[in-house]
Amino acid sequence: MPGQLMLVFLSGLISGLFVNYLADVLPRSRRFTEPVCLSCGQFRTWKEFALGKPCAACGRKNSVRFWIVIILEIILAGLVWFFPLGNFPFWASELFLLVFSVMIVTDIEFRVILEQVTIAGYILSFFAGLFLHGLNKTILGGISGFLLFLALYYFGRLFARRLAHNREEPIDEEALGFGDVHLAGVVGLLTGFPFNLTAMLLAIILGGIASIVIIVITLVRKQYQAFMAIPYGPFIIIGGIAALYYYL
Ligand SMILES: [Zn+2]
Repeated sequence: MPGQLMLVFLSGLISGLFVNYLADVLPRSRRFTEPVCLSCGQFRTWKEFALGKPCAACGRKNSVRFWIVIILEIILAGLVWFFPLGNFPFWASELFLLVFSVMIVTDIEFRVILEQVTIAGYILSFFAGLFLHGLNKTILGGISGFLLFLALYYFGRLFARRLAHNREEPIDEEALGFGDVHLAGVVGLLTGFPFNLTAMLLAIILGGIASIVIIVITLVRKQYQAFMAIPYGPFIIIGGIAALYYYL
């Protein structure tokens, strides 16, 4: 048992480092480079990065996010170990945690969910869906999730355009990005039909609550602007995981 717990800890630690690496590197260069300093943009050695040392070029320490992500990944690895999703293997859950975490970090930091990560998500979710509920429910879940959020996406754009027209000023932030549409497809494959509908509903409710909280906070601080986009990716992912744990 202590040996197994050590492995769980290590897999959380390694996936935390990997999430940080991908979230640092992919939004900047869209490809896999050496680790990069977020402050001065210089490349860093793998050893320096993995040990969490300050940048050798500019001396800047790692961001708070670096440490938060590592701690959270270790906690999540422990949770997945002690509360597995049915007979879903630990290593597969860890892969999902990795992909979903990168999506959440880049969505919060840059309001973007990267193509490479989305493709990895589609592939992983397809096979996980096959394993969990078979081909038909998986495909149907993916397609219905995608189409539902595609409709929301166009509805949001139409609404924004109407509003921009009335105010005669452009709105360049999209309420719901196309990355979210793909993510609804990914989560749909994973949860399968009809569980994905619960997942999407949860995502919309949670996203709505978060929007209201943020609007109230910014109103109180007098920083409110209409059409402040909030990242919806995290809510789609949380909705999917909650639906899976509820139904399986
Ligand atoms: Zn630096």
